[in-house]
Amino acid sequence: ALRTAPLRARAEIDLAALRANVRTLRGRAPGAALMAVVKSDAYGHGAPQCARAAVQAGATWLGTATPEEALALRAAGLTDVRVMCWLWTPGGPWQEAVEADLDVSVSGMWALREVTAAARRAGLPARVHLKADTGLGRGGCQPGGDWAELVREALRAEAGGLIRITGLWSHFACADEPGHPSVAAQLALFREMTAHAEGRGVRPEVRHIANSPATLTLPESHFDLVRTGIAVYGISPSPELGVPADFGLRPVMTLSASLSLVKQVPGGHGVSYGHHYVTPGETTLGLVPLGYADGIPRHASGAGPVLVGGKWRTVAGRIAMDQFVVDLGGDEPGAGEQAVLFGPGDHGEPTAEDWAQAAGTIAYEIVTRIGTRVPRVHV
Ligand code: PLP
Repeated sequence: ALRTAPLRARAEIDLAALRANVRTLRGRAPGAALMAVVKSDAYGHGAPQCARAAVQAGATWLGTATPEEALALRAAGLTDVRVMCWLWTPGGPWQEAVEADLDVSVSGMWALREVTAAARRAGLPARVHLKADTGLGRGGCQPGGDWAELVREALRAEAGGLIRITGLWSHFACADEPGHPSVAAQLALFREMTAHAEGRGVRPEVRHIANSPATLTLPESHFDLVRTGIAVYGISPSPELGVPADFGLRPVMTLSASLSLVKQVPGGHGVSYGHHYVTPGETTLGLVPLGYADGIPRHASGAGPVLVGGKWRTVAGRIAMDQFVVDLGGDEPGAGEQAVLFGPGDHGEPTAEDWAQAAGTIAYEIVTRIGTRVPRVHV
């Protein structure tokens, strides 16, 4: 019904492109299993649909931040695939996580104690990935004594049947900056920390550190599993690395809206809050019914590009909560004309990366912030 209903706005999600991206990424890391990262509602693309498509294309793992996101995938019927969540919070639904056969990350003793207690209550072993901080300086266990203690206690819990150490893992800080010295340093430390654990008797199914940029550019980081997020959605991890087509990837989301009004105005007409745009001469203005409450970044006021009637237009003045204006330069599109904010780019439309540049942010933020008022239409 959604597809044919006259929609104010829609985010069309091209699942065939997503499947092709997953196959391309598997080709880039042929020796490793592929985890499709579907946290934050699949980077704003719709988690259950994208997860199913990724599995069809050969992803054997799904990754989320929170256990709630992972449990929602199980509830949506994704039962035949490994699901890992990594955002530890005290008091989380860890018993449910164990019962739902999730893989959970453990960065330190707080988490290990809580997950073993949850496993005891569940009467089942928890699947645990020990996380090493090899240099991101965020989650993960510090190298040295902390890591040695975590490994020792995890092995003890494994011997007691409370956990199974299924993974050893870490996360890069600067994989999107090829040649950054921290990348080689993190890889070396990851090898050291995994070797320490394996030397003490840990037998992980998977060792993993690679995100999208590392999967695309750093084969020596692939180990047994790659965790790809942004590339699954056809977006390059950073413009410095290249555009999606350089890696054989295709953007999955197209965001568009129906123009809700076109009107003629004289020159000198102030547009939108604060009058930061004043028409340079007589012109036509088009009203686009999307605003910052829909995730259109207010920072892109006066800068965001939109395709209307085959031409790029620029947001005129401030982006408001629910709408913004484009200067159509005298053109008068008819009722029902579409404004395309971003898409793959091959029909002349801007890309999410163009919006990221206009807003001074990264394309990850553009797609993940598209709000719940915008229906996702999976095609
Ligand atoms: N692994 C972890 C732990 C993450 O938090 C993320 C996302 O930020 C990813 C992998 C996927 O990263 P990317 O989207 O760059 O592939």
